[in-house]
Order: sequence, then C-alpha cells, then structure tokens
Amino acid sequence: GCDPQTLMKYAGLALHKAKANGKHQVQVFTEALTAEASYKLFVESNLRRALAQNELAVHYQPKLCLRSGQLLGLEALLRWQHPEKGMIRPDRFISVAEETGLIVPIGKWVIREACRQARELAEAGLGELQIAINLSPKQFTDPDLVGSIAAILHEENIPASQLELELTESLLLDATDDTRQQLERLKSLGLTLAMDDFGTGYSNWTYLRDLPITAIKLDQSFTRDLAGSPKAQSVTQAVIGLASQLGYRVVAEGIETHDTFHLLQAWGCHEGQGYLIAQPMLPEQLEDWLRR
Ligand code: C2E
Ligand code: MG
Ligand code: MG
Repeated sequence: GCDPQTLMKYAGLALHKAKANGKHQVQVFTEALTAEASYKLFVESNLRRALAQNELAVHYQPKLCLRSGQLLGLEALLRWQHPEKGMIRPDRFISVAEETGLIVPIGKWVIREACRQARELAEAGLGELQIAINLSPKQFTDPDLVGSIAAILHEENIPASQLELELTESLLLDATDDTRQQLERLKSLGLTLAMDDFGTGYSNWTYLRDLPITAIKLDQSFTRDLAGSPKAQSVTQAVIGLASQLGYRVVAEGIETHDTFHLLQAWGCHEGQGYLIAQPMLPEQLEDWLRR
C-alpha cells in the first residue's frame, strides 16, 4: 500500500484473518486476502436473495449397502445456482451462511425440500428411501431447531425414521448441555444421527460414546488412494473394525474405484457412496437413475 488508507485496510484484513484462524495468530497481509474479502462480500450480498428467489437446489447422492448392493438412501447436498456465476458448491458459501446466520433459514429450507422430494419419490413408487441431511453446528443455536424439524416431518408426512442428520465433529466436541438435550430430543423423535467426516479432526471415541450417534461416516481421506497404499489400507480396515465393534454403522464416502469398493466390502464396511456409484443428482435425474 502506498497511502495510509490502503495500509490500514490491508492491516484490517490481516487482523480479521488472524482472528478467524483462532487465538494468538500472526497474519501477514497478502493479495489473496483482498480476493477472499471481496468474494465474501459477494456471497453475503447475494445469498439472501438466493433463498428468496429459488436459486438454491438440493442434489441427491445414492448410498448403497456394500454387502448386497441394495440402495439404502440418499444424501441431500446443497447447491447454489447463481444466475451469472453458475453452480456454486457448498464449500464456497456455507461458512458465510454460518457467519451471517443465514444458515438457519437455509438449513430449514433444505430439510423441507428434501422431505418433500422424498415423499414425491415414494408417491412415484420409487420406495421410501432414507434421507441424510447435513446440519451445521450454527443451526443448534436456533432454539426452534428440534421443533421445526418435527413440524416439517409432520407437514410433509415423512416418518422420522426416514431422516438421518449428519453432524460435524466440532459440534460434538463443543457440545454444551443445551446441544446434548437437542440431540437427545432429535433421537427421541425417531431420527438417526451420524457423525460426518470422521477422521479429519480429533476423532475421539470417548466423546462419541456419550452422544446418541449411531453411524459414522468415514471421510474421503480414508478411501482416497487406498489401492496403492498398504499403510492406508491397514488404518482404514482397523477403523472400520473398531467402529463396527463399538456398534456403529459405518458409511464410506468418496468411493471412486472398484478396488476401493471391494476392499471396503471385504472389511465389512456397511454402506458407501461415491462417484463410482453415482454423482449427486437433481431430482429429475435421480428419478431416471432410480428407475434404471
Ligand atoms: P459432506 O457431507 O462430507 O459431503 C460429501 C461431499 O463429497 C459432497 O461434496 C459430495 O459431492 C462429494 N463427493 C461425493 N462422492 C465423491 C467422490 O467419489 N469423490 C469425491 N472427490 N467427492 C465426492 P459437496 O456436495 O461439494 O459438499 C461439500 C460439503 O458441504 C459437504 O460435505 C457438507 O459438509 C456441506 N454441505 C452440503 N450440503 C449442505 C447442507 O445442506 N447444509 C450444510 N450445513 N452443509 C452442507
Ligand atoms: Mg455429509
Ligand atoms: Mg463427509
């Protein structure tokens, strides 16, 4: 920067980034921070409109029983179809939605949309498939979370057992008494709870034990490049073994090759999803896929 205003602005961006990274950080300003800040501004100013103007869509990725090959359910994955920028993946906007609080209405919209589409599939004779929905920790700050899920299930006429909620490790690690109560209430409604992206954080079995979680989703880092690495194979096999012994249903993500599929199957992994089986699809494509 060549003038005081620019220097102060850059220092401010670096300060903001340092705070976002946690306590006691040093952050030097780089050009990337300006790009990041203007992208964030773009998301902030467009996302509210996105929800109001139907720019959001839910895609569905099938999950199979690895033993029988039977279709068990679908994971609902959010997409943003921006009129100029095209499709934006959730990784590019969920964090801003969390910061601004917009994740609360967006999250409810996803649940309603997924329940409505599950009912339409059932009415079209395509079966009552389990639907897995990703929840952000921020949604648990909404005192109405459990009540609104119960209301949506009732209004859309979907049995609670058909819904699985995928939770993040950070939610479970930082679970306050209030969060624990919400999880217990969700469980008593009849929903199942899964821990998503297992293996990316602390992956501590002790705190899992005290929470009403019944399924563990192995992160893609466990399934990526399995075939070439005996060490990775040992780790993944051991984690599947331990999780199963502890009574968890184990779901593998990111299955891209036949080799990976067969290894996971041989190690007793219960369920799997990935591009080998199917990409996430819009409801119309999904219906064709299901009929085939
Ligand atoms: P996730 O829940 O772990 O979802 C799995 C991600 O892996 C999805 O990315 C999916 O498209 C991708 N994937 C599936 N199969 C394969 C494969 O074979 N290979 C590879 N490389 N990737 C595969 P996506 O859809 O971009 O979603 C990213 C993350 O965004 C999700 O990770 C989830 O944490 C979050 N997310 C998605 N939808 C929602 C939502 O409605 N609410 C919230 N709070 N978060 C969401
Ligand atoms: Mg997920
Ligand atoms: Mg995951």
